[in-house]
Amino acid sequence: MIYLVTVALALALALSLRALWKQNRALHDLEQAARRGQPLLHDESPAAYLPAWAVLTEAVNRLITQNNSLQQQRSDQLAQLEATLGNLREAVLIVDGANYIHLANRALREIFPGARDLVNLRLELIVRSGPFLEYVRATREGTVLPREEFEIIDGDHTLWIEASGAPIPSPDGKSQWALFVIHDMTNQRKLERVRRDFGANASHELRTPLSIIKGYIETLVDGHQTMELADRDKFLRTIQRHSERLKSIIDDLLALSRLESATPGLKFAPLSLTGYYGELLEEYRNRPQAAGHTLTVNVPASIGLIEADGEKLAHVFGNLIENAFKYTPKGARIELGAAAAGDGDVECWVRDDGPGIPTADLPHIFERFYRVEKGRSRETGGTGLGLSIVKHIVQLHGGTVWAESGEGGGLTIRLRLPRRQKT
Ligand code: ADP
Repeated sequence: MIYLVTVALALALALSLRALWKQNRALHDLEQAARRGQPLLHDESPAAYLPAWAVLTEAVNRLITQNNSLQQQRSDQLAQLEATLGNLREAVLIVDGANYIHLANRALREIFPGARDLVNLRLELIVRSGPFLEYVRATREGTVLPREEFEIIDGDHTLWIEASGAPIPSPDGKSQWALFVIHDMTNQRKLERVRRDFGANASHELRTPLSIIKGYIETLVDGHQTMELADRDKFLRTIQRHSERLKSIIDDLLALSRLESATPGLKFAPLSLTGYYGELLEEYRNRPQAAGHTLTVNVPASIGLIEADGEKLAHVFGNLIENAFKYTPKGARIELGAAAAGDGDVECWVRDDGPGIPTADLPHIFERFYRVEKGRSRETGGTGLGLSIVKHIVQLHGGTVWAESGEGGGLTIRLRLPRRQKT
């Protein structure tokens, strides 16, 4: 009897354990299905081994299907938004509650070319700016903020962006996202900086000779009656030298502003480079500064004509030859050359075998007031504006200009000019 009861109890326990195991498995299967987002098929659903779970299984399957279709709708909406905003000139950014990027149109990708695809990346990886991230957070939380500008360090570059934003509900409506319209202000800010620096540099350059002139004149006014004749002479010569310097700076500044104006007044005409170089050589060989320098011309007779403003180009070559006189010692060789280049262009150069300039300075020498050796430039009457005038004239001809170091020292300034001007 006891034996029979024990067997019956063991059987009942085994059956309950089996039912429990089935329910556990059913729960696990439903959970897995929900996690994968795949509804369960009939023969793998708990209903196959637990008919009582059929209703629950069906409900879970329905939920999974609805969720999938919502997800699909959401990515369709984003894709549609992306297509709409893709060609907009304004950069548009959408981030979710955890700062993951969900939309970045083409204009935005152009602002941050370093990152290939911005979508699904965290904003912090792209925009390294605490204040901007704070702006994003506050916008998402609904604080109405005015348009604001941010400085962003991107590797070696600094970017300036102006952003305005608004909170938007996430596609599932459960959280807050944020949308931003961004303008790239980098070029504008750089231009402003160049202008500011130029203003400061120009004032400094003008003030130096002016204060010297003022000081000497004051001394002369106070003491000219008692002053030695030789001293007076020395003072007057100093005043003369610095007024000439003042005039050179003002002349160069005026030349630059004319070249930068809307009407730089260039007069293009066909010009034979061989004849033109011949005349330049004659003129500069006879200058007193040319003493001790060898000036040669290297231009093939077949070089032909180019369309250019001869007077303005004379300013270019004159400046380059005078620089070569100024910055090379006696005995230096200066070559004026030209050769046909690709695309029907012409390449012209002025080369010297003087000390040249360090490689790091090469790209900067066309900037206004940039001097490699400040003392030497001023001593020889340089304004620091010669090469920027050269660059402007070459650019107004549709050409480019650059500097190269010679192999054994020396400097070559090359200009590439189109043969014909665009009409
Ligand atoms: P600057 O009036 O001072 O000569 P430029 O704009 O003509 O101004 O030239 C800029 C600087 O480039 C000069 O100050 C000088 O340091 C350097 N430079 C120009 N030409 C030469 C050259 N042929 N050899 C060495 N350095 C040069």
